[in-house]
Amino acid sequence: MSVVDLNLVSRYIEVGREAERLLRKSDQEAYANLNLKWDRGLLQADAYIVLHCSVRGPAKGGIRMREDVSLKETRRLAELMTYKCALAKIPFGGGKSGIRINPKVLSPEARRALISEYVHMFAPYLQNGSYVPAPDMGTTPADMATIYGCTHIPESVTGKPPRIGGLPGREEATGYGVACTTRLAVRHVLGKDLRGVTVAVQGFGNVGKWTARFLAEWGAKVIAVSDVGTALYMDEGLPITEMSGISVLSESGLPEIPRDELLLLPVDVLIPAAIGGVIDEEIASKLQARLIIEAANDPTTAAGDAVLNERGISVIPDILANSGGVIASYIEWRQAKSGSLTDKSETYDVIDKQISRAYADVIDVVRQKGVSHRLAAQILAVDEVVQSMRDRGWI
Ligand code: NAD
Repeated sequence: MSVVDLNLVSRYIEVGREAERLLRKSDQEAYANLNLKWDRGLLQADAYIVLHCSVRGPAKGGIRMREDVSLKETRRLAELMTYKCALAKIPFGGGKSGIRINPKVLSPEARRALISEYVHMFAPYLQNGSYVPAPDMGTTPADMATIYGCTHIPESVTGKPPRIGGLPGREEATGYGVACTTRLAVRHVLGKDLRGVTVAVQGFGNVGKWTARFLAEWGAKVIAVSDVGTALYMDEGLPITEMSGISVLSESGLPEIPRDELLLLPVDVLIPAAIGGVIDEEIASKLQARLIIEAANDPTTAAGDAVLNERGISVIPDILANSGGVIASYIEWRQAKSGSLTDKSETYDVIDKQISRAYADVIDVVRQKGVSHRLAAQILAVDEVVQSMRDRGWI
């Protein structure tokens, strides 16, 4: 099923049959069977690239490397990217890629070989710039460096390490944007500033860690964080800044609670920053947070979303909340094409400005049409894409 309910969006804006038909299918999809003779066996992984809609520019979206990656999930995530880029008003289309393997089983050498094979198999997309990857769950700036090492085209990939053309501030860009969104929503929805506001963050990888860190620096009380193994909880707030070097939470020595209890804690703000589909109908009916900020992509199921709406719990959707990463990717891509340099403060300023503008646009639609934040963001994003189709003569 599509991420966006186009029938529902069509009640508010003119989408039209032709645009709908284009948006219901991916522009292009490709599959590769990655095979490497490695050590004593064969290293094999299915890999996908999905270009959902390229009407606004090259398809942009990260590469996810996990053992449960599927074409269906990759399609949904590519679709989300189309609307995320449109809402942020950056000239990128929506894409996504997946490599179906547990990255933990790979040595650094096997990993480099696998990524090189990925580039080899998907060369047409990566060489002509129609799909521009970045890190997502399970992939890192080092993997993007491997891609650049194969294509030799600086703008063919973003999220590279800063020394080889990556953007200062890209690593923390998504978390920074999530924190900016949280600050805006806490003010608007809860009528408070961040000081003392209690926060729980699910996921302590790139996005979760940086989100928690910025929020703690700005005065929020991050009382719980989790990773795949456990959750940490401290009533008085976790020492987030000192935790930045921790990669496995169970080794931190800090007080633990069962992992999934985090979602149900009585906090002001809950931030899912790990996998998709975690806020389902059951969790949505039990959770106690007053505000949810979707740092992860697609963390709320349709049934979960309906329950949250009924309960009057505000959800700031993924296509708005986690757009800091793709905004930074756009700056990196532009930098690579032009040869200009950008400093960290400029990266932060652009993210803050773009997200504040998009947030204000969303709030206007929430007020005018009496819809949820998610539907308002979708209305704006679909409208932008449909208008782009008209600009290009696609419809
Ligand atoms: P990551 O691989 O760096 O970290 C993922 C974290 O989630 C890890 O701490 C892992 O242990 C944890 N995790 C996995 N399953 C869990 C579970 N069941 N319960 C609790 N924690 C669990 O990934 P990331 O780059 O931080 O991405 C996280 C989410 O943010 C994904 O949904 C991704 O699509 C989205 N996102 C990432 C970026 C980016 O720039 N990296 C941009 C936009 C959106």
